[in-house]
Parts: sequence; C-alpha cells; structure tokens
Amino acid sequence: MLAGWAAGRTRALIPGFGQQTWKTPAVIVDSVDTVVIGAGIVGLAVARALALRGREVLILEAAETFGTGISSRHSEVIHAGIYYPRGSLKARLCVAGRDRLYEFCERFAIPHRRCGKLIVATSQDQLAELEAIQAAAAGNGVPLQWLNSAQARTMEPEIVCEAALFSPATGIIDSHSYMFALLADAERHAANVAYHSRVAAMWLENHSILLAINDDERPTLRARMVVNCAGLHATQVAATIEGFPTDCIPRAYYARGHYFALAGKTRFRHLVYPIPEPGGLGVHLTLDLAGQARFGPDVEWIETLDYEVNIERANRFYAAIRRFWPQLGDGQLVPAYAGIRPKISGPGEPAADFRIDGPSHHGVASLINLFGIESPGLTSSLAIGEHVAEIAQGAGLIASSGQQAS
Ligand SMILES: Cc1cc2nc3c(=O)[nH]c(=O)nc-3n(C[C@H](O)[C@H](O)[C@H](O)COP(=O)(O)OP(=O)(O)OC[C@H]3O[C@@H](n4cnc5c(N)ncnc54)[C@H](O)[C@@H]3O)c2cc1C
Repeated sequence: MLAGWAAGRTRALIPGFGQQTWKTPAVIVDSVDTVVIGAGIVGLAVARALALRGREVLILEAAETFGTGISSRHSEVIHAGIYYPRGSLKARLCVAGRDRLYEFCERFAIPHRRCGKLIVATSQDQLAELEAIQAAAAGNGVPLQWLNSAQARTMEPEIVCEAALFSPATGIIDSHSYMFALLADAERHAANVAYHSRVAAMWLENHSILLAINDDERPTLRARMVVNCAGLHATQVAATIEGFPTDCIPRAYYARGHYFALAGKTRFRHLVYPIPEPGGLGVHLTLDLAGQARFGPDVEWIETLDYEVNIERANRFYAAIRRFWPQLGDGQLVPAYAGIRPKISGPGEPAADFRIDGPSHHGVASLINLFGIESPGLTSSLAIGEHVAEIAQGAGLIASSGQQAS
C-alpha cells in the first residue's frame, strides 16, 4: 500500500514485497516528484526512464504485484515495425524500441531469441497485400525479404503459401524477466513501487496533482507530475481527475484475443503470420523460448473485461491455421489464455495510433496520459519511456541533463 512506500521510501523495495502488510495511519500527507500509475511493461519502462533522469519516482499499482494486466497476456513478440503507418507513433516507437529492447536484453541477460518471422500469402489474391506490407515496412525503415513458395519452404518445410516475406528483426522475449529487470533497474535508480495502491481520484493544483488512493475520500499524496500508464483502465483513471476536460479522453474499446496452444512438439523455427485482419495481425504461430508453439490472438470485440477463453473459437482457429499449415491435426489445439487489447478505435474504424498526451494536448502542465497502448507496446516500451521523458523535459518538468535509458 501507499503507506508501505512512505515507510520504506529510503530503501529499495524488492519484487515480491507486495505481500507485505503495513499499518496505515489514518491520514498520510506526503509529496513526491513523479507518480507513475500502473506497473505493467509500459509503466515500468516509463518509471525507469524518469528515474534514470534523476526524478524521484513512485509507481502506484492497484494489484498485488507488477505485470498482472495486459503485460501478462500477450504474444511476447519483439516486433520489427512492419505494419504501422509511416511517421505514426507506433511505427517510430516500435522501430526505436525494438533496437533498444535487443540491447537491453543483452545488457541485462533477458532470455530472448531473434528468431525471425514469415508473413505468408496463401492465395494469389493476397500477393498485392504482401507487396503493400513490404512497401509499408520499407517506409518504416524495416527491410523484408521476398520469398517465393519454394524459398519459404526451405525455411519452414510444412507451410503452404504462394509467397512470403521474411523479417529477420522479429524475435521473442521472456516478458516477465524483462519487467523484473525494468523494475530492478528503476529501483537501483531510487524509484519505489507501492502495490495494493489504486489511484481512486485526482485533483489538479497549479503545479501539481493531488491523489487519493484506494478508499481515501481525501487526497493523501501530492505529485509534481503524474504519468497515467493504467493500460485497460487508463481512460477511467483520466476520468477521475476532477475538472479534466472530457474531450481529451478517448472512448475505450476492448478487443479480446484468444490463444490456443499446440499439443505436442513443433518443427517450426520461425514465427508465421498470415495477412493481417481488421483489429489484429491475424491468427499467427508464435513460439516461446522453450520452443512450444501457440496460435493467436484472434479479435473478439467485448463490452466488459473478461478473460475467459471462448473454446467455440477453436473451429475458426483450425480453419485459419490450415490455410498456411494444412498438416494441423484434429484435436491438436488446446485452449490456452486470452488477452484484451486497450483499443481507442472501435470495430470498423481505422486503427488508432498510440496516444501519449502531454500538456500540449490537454493543457494540464503536470500530467501525461497514455491511451491505446496495445501491440506493439511491449516492443516500444523503452522508446515510450524516452518519449515520455522528452515530453516532461519539453514541459519543463525535468531538467535536460541525466542519463538516457538504453
Ligand atoms: C493479445 C495481445 C497481444 C499482444 N502481443 C504483443 C506482442 O507480441 N508484442 C508487443 O510488442 N506488444 C504486444 N501487445 C501489447 C502489449 O502487451 C501491451 O502494449 C503492454 O503490455 C501494455 O502494458 P501497460 O503497462 O500499458 O498495461 P498493463 O500491463 O495492463 O499495466 C497497467 C497496470 O495499471 C494498473 N492499474 C490500472 N488502474 C489502476 C489504478 N487506478 N491505480 C493503480 N494502478 C492501476 C493495472 O493493475 C496494471 O498492472 C499485445 C497485447 C495484447 C492484448
């Protein structure tokens, strides 16, 4: 809880201490330089980037530990930066974040593998789309190699396709180890985290923000800067800020993606993606670092946050996968898990870009809101951290000196 941070602020906290219980005084009134709301991949990367620049950072996390939200229910793919519109935040932060992430993995010994991926066209009709993907990727500075069917089969003998693109920069990562390392490095630079600390309400002051935590009716904390990294709840958190303009909060949509694991061993060595579908990248084959294959995520628009795996979706998975891997046998798909994308564009609408809204967007000097941080949020996370630090610097909230996160 927040009281835990207040009591332990002079020492680094360690992962797992979420189980600690602290006696909460009736009222705590304390001040901190920066509050980061949410200890997912993005909140941790932002907290680390700010701590590296000498900010006093407190991460407030509603759950009992880090990474229990979107950040534990995804594909763990380090994306190359292929699909996103040129110049968009998704394109820029993915490409920059990808390189930083590989460097970070080497430096902090995070398990990962630059395994590469194939994007396959399974009919003549899809060849034009494959060409468009290659052109979009080139526009983002991501070279993809065109393979004919035979060349693709030398890389993955069991796939069937008309042609494919090979992305050598795509990889996979152990995202829990990554989050652990982000938190540990942030703590080494004097950041702290308080679990069981849900930001319930905020009030704007001239040069700071007041926060109420959990069941507090009155503010118990003052921060000179707040960064809202609350993932699926980011729009709700922004809506709790008394007086914050509602037209600066996008509408939230949720798109669930199911995963099915492949029973038994796989001979695939690369990730295999179809042509993207609206709302997602299409049901693709990903591998974990142990070589286990899983398929997903599909796209199901939902109204409420519900992680149940809808096993009726299995039939669609068999059909989608057999288009590029006809050898998939009946009964080989096992329901695995579901993740939920924090969308800010709805069904049928063009995919929205990441929104990282600083003072120039909403006029509040001490606030940065992150909305719609869906895929490639993991890949982009270190670059998102840098981007937030630059916004804070531009707004005069942090000095220009300090270390850059790498
Ligand atoms: C199905 C799926 C597949 C994906 N695959 C990939 C991929 O392969 N590669 C890739 O690069 N990206 C991928 N992504 C995107 C990536 O997983 C996300 O961008 C990233 O995990 C988002 O992290 P986050 O920190 O913003 O959110 P979260 O991990 O959800 O963290 C937000 C945190 O805020 C906390 N919180 C919420 N409200 C409050 C409050 N009021 N007070 C305090 N704390 C609060 C929550 O408890 C949570 O811990 C995928 C996403 C999905 C859904």
